[in-house]
Amino acid sequence: MSIIGATAGDLLSRMDRGELSSVEVTTAYLDRIAEFDAKVGAFLSVDRDGALKQAAVVDQKRQARQPLGALAGIPVGVKDVLCTAGQTTTCASRMLQNFVPPYDAHVVTRLKTADAVLIGKTNMDEFAMGSTTENSAFQVTHNPWDLERTPGGSSGGSAAAVSAGMAPLSLGTDTGGSIRQPAGFCSVVGLKPTYGRVSRYGLVAYASSLDQVGPFANDVAGAAILAEVISGHDPRDSTCVNAPVPSYLQNLEQPLAGLRVGIAKEHFVAGLSPEVERTVRTAVDVYKSLGAEIKEVSLPHAKYGVAVYYLIAPCEASSNLARYDGVHYGHRASQFNNMIDMYATSRGEGFGTEVKRRIMLGTYALSAGYYEAYYVKALKVRRLIRQDYDQAFQQIDVLASPVSPNPAFKIGEHLADPLAMYLEDIYTISANLAGLPGISIPAGFTATGMPIGLQLLAAPFEEERLLRAARMFEKATDWHKQQPKL
Ligand code: GLN
Repeated sequence: MSIIGATAGDLLSRMDRGELSSVEVTTAYLDRIAEFDAKVGAFLSVDRDGALKQAAVVDQKRQARQPLGALAGIPVGVKDVLCTAGQTTTCASRMLQNFVPPYDAHVVTRLKTADAVLIGKTNMDEFAMGSTTENSAFQVTHNPWDLERTPGGSSGGSAAAVSAGMAPLSLGTDTGGSIRQPAGFCSVVGLKPTYGRVSRYGLVAYASSLDQVGPFANDVAGAAILAEVISGHDPRDSTCVNAPVPSYLQNLEQPLAGLRVGIAKEHFVAGLSPEVERTVRTAVDVYKSLGAEIKEVSLPHAKYGVAVYYLIAPCEASSNLARYDGVHYGHRASQFNNMIDMYATSRGEGFGTEVKRRIMLGTYALSAGYYEAYYVKALKVRRLIRQDYDQAFQQIDVLASPVSPNPAFKIGEHLADPLAMYLEDIYTISANLAGLPGISIPAGFTATGMPIGLQLLAAPFEEERLLRAARMFEKATDWHKQQPKL
């Protein structure tokens, strides 16, 4: 049986049985990257030597029957927005092109403690702002299902890496859909945990009240293992909740009796592609056939999600990105006339177009006179969106919806029209505004063979239920077994 395309769980048990070593597994993925990543462009850097060294250490531990972590010997790709000590962390920005952090992000420390093998850093939209990975300052990532199309974004590299069999697992971040949307576009599983479930320490901030780290995997169990490894309290992130993390794997195979699946009438409106709608409705029928009760709920404020997000996220971004001033770290212009000019030129050279657009939008919305009218109003509507969900989740366990209104678009298609691109985030962003956990799972394909995902959302800290519900669907369908031909 092959290594490429195998699930993390399968690789773990074969290594435990002594049929495979981590060096063999890691070598297979490194070779796969060497062979195909010129086409896909998923990785910004690959740590061949470091990965093989770590794999050898894990193999020795296994042979010596020493205690092993939950991901012992499994290669994992890490989005380049997460700090890795001694390894560049660029955020796909010229601003941080040569930045080598002196410390690991909390989730990276957790990976290392779990004996995972860090295989490389994945491409993304600059500072996680975007939906196509085209905003990377360094390279475009291509969708493994059709190289002329985008893998989605901003965690497009992490999604494409798993989809193309270049890593069984990877980490991404999701501020407005950046895990779920690329997972849907690439036919892999992507989980955004509840806000506060996973520490943001060492995650380079985009919009701090929305950012969350989460797993990509080629099956639900893989996402469950990785989610369990990274979740839990860390005092270095004051928003990280001190609550026990249940085992996501333990009951994963047990179907949920009496599951109540909701659909929101506001989700099936103009702008939704008929193929996506059909796929989501078929998926809901699958739940029905598994004994779930289907209930219609209402999310009256859902339609304001895009407007609210594209105020709050740029406001927070304008504040967070103020730190790149050419002084502390990051890019500094080589020529300038005075101090103010040094700031302006360094930032002008270091940031790309989309990042500049958002800094300007956010700075404008936060300025005197507009703060109350835009930012504070957006915060109020954010609360209403959360209340809609609180009410809905009194009647249902999970909400089923599209991930995106359309399947993966062509590279370059939306670049000239940022607003059209922002509108594509309509189904994912409200989970971030409300802090809810959400998952995207493979649910079908268009007539031309492009993947379509199903999104499930749940009440805060209900990841266990969400993953079990996702596993019920996965067990009943074959979509996740299909792999792109490269
Ligand atoms: N597409 C959204 C944006 O551009 C979401 C990005 C994200 O989740 N990081 O902001």
